[in-house]
Amino acid sequence: MSTPSSAGFDTRLLINGSFISGEARSETAFDPARGTILAEVPSASLAQVESAIAAASQAFTSHRRTTPKERSLMLLAIADRILREAEDLARVESLNAGKPLRYVKGGELANVADVFRFFAGAVRTMEGTVSGNYRSASMTSLIRRDPVGVVASIAPWNYPLLMAAWKLAPAIAAGNTVVIKPSEHTPLSLIALGRILNDILPPGVVNIVCGNGPDVGQALISHPDVRMVSLTGDVRTGRAVLAAAAGERIKRTHLELGGKAPVIVLKDADIDSLVSTLREASFYNAGQDCTAACRILVDRSLAGDVEAAMEAMVASLIYGDPERDDVEFGPVISARHLERVSGFVDRARDQGCQILAGGERSGTTGFFYAPTLVRAPFDAEIVQKEVFGPVVTITAVDGPEDAVRLANSSEYGLASSVWSADQKTALTVANALEYGVTWVNTHGVFATEMPHGGMKNSGYGSDLSMQSLLEYTQTRHIMLAS
Ligand code: NAD
Repeated sequence: MSTPSSAGFDTRLLINGSFISGEARSETAFDPARGTILAEVPSASLAQVESAIAAASQAFTSHRRTTPKERSLMLLAIADRILREAEDLARVESLNAGKPLRYVKGGELANVADVFRFFAGAVRTMEGTVSGNYRSASMTSLIRRDPVGVVASIAPWNYPLLMAAWKLAPAIAAGNTVVIKPSEHTPLSLIALGRILNDILPPGVVNIVCGNGPDVGQALISHPDVRMVSLTGDVRTGRAVLAAAAGERIKRTHLELGGKAPVIVLKDADIDSLVSTLREASFYNAGQDCTAACRILVDRSLAGDVEAAMEAMVASLIYGDPERDDVEFGPVISARHLERVSGFVDRARDQGCQILAGGERSGTTGFFYAPTLVRAPFDAEIVQKEVFGPVVTITAVDGPEDAVRLANSSEYGLASSVWSADQKTALTVANALEYGVTWVNTHGVFATEMPHGGMKNSGYGSDLSMQSLLEYTQTRHIMLAS
């Protein structure tokens, strides 16, 4: 067995209970706050992807037969170890994803552990249609919910550990086995989590293969022995998954794709509460969040006041080195992504949108972009497309109907919020929106018990909640004649 490499970071794959070096070309994992290389991570070769899937197929024959209680105990043990080793996991996550260390240590790892704990409980309390004699007194019907099989999980870079947990916990709980691929930008924390998983789970139940999308990801999602693909990623990647799922053997798919959350501010909204919530909901993780509150649709009568309050808030945001105790957000993920974010803002400026704050890169090291506010019409590219950076647009609208019409014209349908002192109007707007989640007078608050998922180009299927557990199962009907 080979040993960890690259400056103390383990960069190996996990296949069938063993950590082994990837045999294909390496991908570079950066420290985005400094722009320096953290590790070169060898990718899995096609033969190694094959062995990971073979290991998962083999492990499925026994994991599927374990009881809910046995799987639950494994998940609880994983959660305990995550919390015990939170300090080390947080350091790797913060370094590689550029997230403020205090937030990863404090909130994100607690959430990761909570996801494993929730599914540990959920799998022991599944409910469903009552067994009975539906056709006739001599025909007894039973419903089973069986695992689907080998799941290929493809994770993004914005919350490497949390997104992995959203996929791994329900899949393992339901009795599936998994081959998971982290983003090529952020493999290090998942490999570190792999040590914990490997100490607790039987070999082959979870396998980790590193590498890029077009080679390793594509090989994984198109393999005939993979029965389900679960992706969190870009809409374009979602299309690649759908094409692969329509291959020789049809696969179940679960797609959590992009978002562009409208924040609908009605004429009686509490501006102080709105702006103090958006401080985090818009800029947490440098806005690299599919639910980020990134496009404000404000009633024309309040537009000036909201702009002024947002400008003051943005001027007071603290961003910089993720190791500092006072920072609210760090860099964006890569030099290329920095180009992409600044390209959106530069084009908006060229098209006549007004940059109210920021609008430029920040510092000379690392991939920092200043928090940015843009006044823009709804049809501007910067309002229509997912920027995935610390950039918020403000658009004036004419009342609730106009706001709903514009919000629903979007290709995206993931997260949204409505702000009003009048609960009845807020509920009317919330009911009319075509978004997977709508918050009223808040934004970006998650509960592990509640489903998270999109509509339209934001994908389908739910993460979190009992709904997610059900998606990792196959409903079967058994009828006994007597
Ligand atoms: P991405 O689609 O570029 O990459 C996601 C993963 O897909 C990576 O592991 C990548 O290697 C892999 N991939 C890329 N092409 C592939 C292919 N052809 N076959 C198989 N795998 C492939 O997305 P990203 O840039 O890592 O993440 C940002 C995106 O994720 C944003 O659009 C964001 O909105 C979305 N996101 C959505 C949610 C949600 O819950 N809906 C949550 C987080 C992020």
